[in-house]
Amino acid sequence: MNNTRKGLVPRETIDEIQSRSDIVDIISECGVVLRPAGQSYKGLCPFHDEKTPSFTVSPQRQMFYCFGCQTGGNVISFVQKHEGKSFIETIEWLAERQNIMLPTQDARESANQKRLRTLEDLNRFAVEYYHRQLLTERASESARQYLKHRGVQPKTLRSFQLGYATSGRRELVKVAMDKGFTIQQLVDVGLIKDEDKGPQDRFWNRILFPIQNERGVPVGFGGRALSEEHQPKYLNSPATSLYDKSNILYNLDKARQSLYKQQRVLLVEGYMDVLMLYQAGVEHVVASSGTSLSENHARLLKRFVPEVVIVYDGDTSGFQAAQRGLLRLLAEDLRVRVALLPAGEDPDSFTRQHGADAFTQLTDKAINLIEFQIQAVIQNRDIHRVDVKMQVVKEVTETLLNLKNRVERSEYIKYAARELRVDERVLWDELKDAGFKETSGPRQTNRRKVAPQKLSARAQIEHQLIEALIQNPALLSYVKSQFDCQHFTEPRFAKIAQLLWEADTDGEQMDIQTLINDASDEALNAFVSSVLLRKTPPPNLQARVEGCLKKLRNFHLQDLEQRVRSHALAEGADEMETLEQLVRLSNERRALRGHNAEGTHDEDSNERRS
Ligand SMILES: [Zn+2]
Repeated sequence: MNNTRKGLVPRETIDEIQSRSDIVDIISECGVVLRPAGQSYKGLCPFHDEKTPSFTVSPQRQMFYCFGCQTGGNVISFVQKHEGKSFIETIEWLAERQNIMLPTQDARESANQKRLRTLEDLNRFAVEYYHRQLLTERASESARQYLKHRGVQPKTLRSFQLGYATSGRRELVKVAMDKGFTIQQLVDVGLIKDEDKGPQDRFWNRILFPIQNERGVPVGFGGRALSEEHQPKYLNSPATSLYDKSNILYNLDKARQSLYKQQRVLLVEGYMDVLMLYQAGVEHVVASSGTSLSENHARLLKRFVPEVVIVYDGDTSGFQAAQRGLLRLLAEDLRVRVALLPAGEDPDSFTRQHGADAFTQLTDKAINLIEFQIQAVIQNRDIHRVDVKMQVVKEVTETLLNLKNRVERSEYIKYAARELRVDERVLWDELKDAGFKETSGPRQTNRRKVAPQKLSARAQIEHQLIEALIQNPALLSYVKSQFDCQHFTEPRFAKIAQLLWEADTDGEQMDIQTLINDASDEALNAFVSSVLLRKTPPPNLQARVEGCLKKLRNFHLQDLEQRVRSHALAEGADEMETLEQLVRLSNERRALRGHNAEGTHDEDSNERRS
């Protein structure tokens, strides 16, 4: 079928990748919360807005199907659609997860991809080098003491692969070059600076926190100075082709599993906060490394959790600075709550003093961003003054504007009106002035149910036949020998039939998963997964298929008769010949009907009419 695709990655490799990529795992990893429901799993569909789960995943079939928007397919089609990847990118993505080397990868890999891989290797090398330095070098004693003093346990130190860059200026440069890396590569990952005085390490006299992307690949470092005089206190890797701050959340790789379990993420400010919480057993925690939240961060989080709890220390000025980033979270339709620590505490000191359970309780009690915002302005400003009040109304409006959920929005408008002591209408007017358009009634797209089309008797039989073939692909070769797929009339089924007919190659039974991968056709995916996930095959599929074939052949003969008649009328064709043809066709049909006498399906009223 699609030879370019087949050619790139051998079928056996695709099969292997697919059989090792469990659809339930992958879909969960992509952030869809699935709960067991009988033999399958159900969740809220990521492809359409819904409140009750109609998205179904079958581990037996390794397929998914949404009863709401009729999207379906296998693990590959899911990743393609959900992550917006091409077929090949999806295969690569899944292969990497499983540590499967794609045999054709080297040949195909562009120069740039190779370059990036080398840079990743260089980063891995540097992580190990600095980590070893911290653990074993005499010169690292002060760093070890510092971490010990902060309460970092050896286990944590190892799992986060903390490192230390000693005071030398050309340490890493030397060992990396001995290892075969070039100056240019070291510059490209931001580990050295190549200036007038020659290449120099970027990090010295700093404790290093390796920063990984969500797949666990080291992409950069955060470096903390050991002495007060050494500025800046925190020095991060510069932006490189591997490291883009706006895409990276510290600890997301380790937190992933816990995020699925907790269904929320705790967002803290620094590396140490993450470390200390993780060490205390609070694993669903990430930090944006020294930047405010970007749209990419918000989207990244949305893939894993529906809710973000922001943990702030008592200082609300830090909070106000971060507001823009928080609105981005709302805009991605994440629930946002704020947990405020007592003044003078950070997550580390709080956990050490009160324990992890107390910290969890604190995050459980976190209040909604909007409430928090309103409370913060009410507490800090003289709300009785009209000008102050109007200013506050404007600020709150901006947050309300970013709320995606209509019900929530009107709830919070009520809340804000009450707390600010203004009329609800004032807030609605502000919203309108700020460009907000109220849509009335439930959004059409939310509840879009595709009305089942009324199929003609013939299309119904075509439908039945294709369903039977998907339920038992072993019948395909036989059906193919009996019926030409060109004779399907309903365009949808004609297309699927054609794909099926093509998928059946001599002596090899068609495999549904392969069919889906090869065809890469949304209509086919939806049809196949809907049949497999919602219907139990009838007991005697073979008999059903025979019945369908007879009826379809009969319809086809009628077509031919019709054609002969109209041809004869239009062209004044040889009467004798026309008559002979008609008699032959009608005999054929009578023969079919004879066989069909014991048939159980009676949809073909056309047959009797003629
Ligand atoms: Zn859906």
